[in-house]
Amino acid sequence: MSERKASHGRQRLAILGSTGSIGGSTLDVVARHPERFEVVTLTAHRRIDRLFEQCLAFHPRLVVVSGPGDAARLEAQLRSAQLRTEVAHGPAALCAAASADDCDTVVAAIVGAAGLPSSLAAARAGKKILLANKEALVMSGMLFMRTVAECGATLLPLDSEHNAIFQCLGDGGGVERLILTASGGPFLTRALDSLDDITPDQACAHPNWVMGRKISVDSATMMNKGLEVIEARWLFDMPAERIEVVIHPQSVIHSMVAYADQSVLAQMGRPDMRTPIAHALAYPERIDSGVAPLDLTRLAHLSFTAPDLVRFPCLRLALEVLRDGCGASVTLNAANEIAVEAFLQEQIRFTEIAMVVEEVLERLPALAEHHQLDDILAADGRARAMAQQIIHDLPAHRVRQVAIH
Ligand code: NDP
Repeated sequence: MSERKASHGRQRLAILGSTGSIGGSTLDVVARHPERFEVVTLTAHRRIDRLFEQCLAFHPRLVVVSGPGDAARLEAQLRSAQLRTEVAHGPAALCAAASADDCDTVVAAIVGAAGLPSSLAAARAGKKILLANKEALVMSGMLFMRTVAECGATLLPLDSEHNAIFQCLGDGGGVERLILTASGGPFLTRALDSLDDITPDQACAHPNWVMGRKISVDSATMMNKGLEVIEARWLFDMPAERIEVVIHPQSVIHSMVAYADQSVLAQMGRPDMRTPIAHALAYPERIDSGVAPLDLTRLAHLSFTAPDLVRFPCLRLALEVLRDGCGASVTLNAANEIAVEAFLQEQIRFTEIAMVVEEVLERLPALAEHHQLDDILAADGRARAMAQQIIHDLPAHRVRQVAIH
């Protein structure tokens, strides 16, 4: 990696999804250490004004957006501000940015399947990848990990649970199981018969974490924890039966590793993504993250319970997909993305997210693990179309249910 570094020795960053929650937290940490980090590339989908503000603050060489119209508008803004930042657009430009010679480290913080091709491009280019985009690993686990190994890339987890596990893993082996903690989200104790009435804003109001809307809904359904279990399976090469989920509503312990001698190592901290981001950016060193110290004397208590798979059917579905050992995680992820978006657009109810995902999993045959990106994207497309069809047919389905009962 050293020969690619700029002469002043700073780590050169491409931050994919810089306008999002993880992207913003990353830039917050980066701004605290101008002597260590140089922002080379920033990317966004639609929030062009936020991207422009980030350009004013960080002077990247390149920005990438999704559409040509937004690219033209941003280019005009940049020129009138006397900035020479180059503007590109579209998925191919995103992959090119992730593999460009002028960056050392790629922060993969695009949400959803849209982040897979660029994350994989970074792996193929042998980059240091700071992975927040868990959907990429859920969709392509075997292919992604093989590419990282074959191309000499370095993969560091940003997800707080996986980053915690990474910090708790020693070099000596003897790991018995991984214990992922989960807050349980905003509806941990809400009456089951009132879950139908949940609004998108209620689902996005997470008790401990401030995050983008998709992952906030995933946290409320606990699909997020299911995706994380699949992510952990690939990141740490751990069989499903040795990954445990416990509800820990305080979000102080971010995850744990249990060893053969029954030592359990935990990583603790405030629920602030800047801690895992700072850890991965500076690894193996430690730097200031801007996060306030954890005051142990002010913690009333820490509690742990088993997850309720009746309350959280999305978690059950993800665990089933992983235990079946098939390639259905692409289907699970795609159906979930469509269902969550439909819920956010108020087209379906909160409880129908799990229903749509389960129905897509039942209707589409489970294939073996996919080995090529094209196969993965084709399976993703089929599952999206199926989920959209099921959602389209839902009003009639609801009327039928009412008539039966
Ligand atoms: P946000 O919705 O806040 O941000 C998503 C980013 O991706 C934005 O920059 C957005 O651009 C960009 N984006 C969205 N769609 C596309 C697309 N089709 N093509 C290119 N770029 C796109 O999400 P988060 O930051 O919350 O989450 C990002 C990833 O990190 C997710 O995979 C999530 O699961 C994971 N993660 C997030 C955590 C958190 O605390 N937020 C914690 C752990 C993991 P624009 O702003 O222009 O729409």
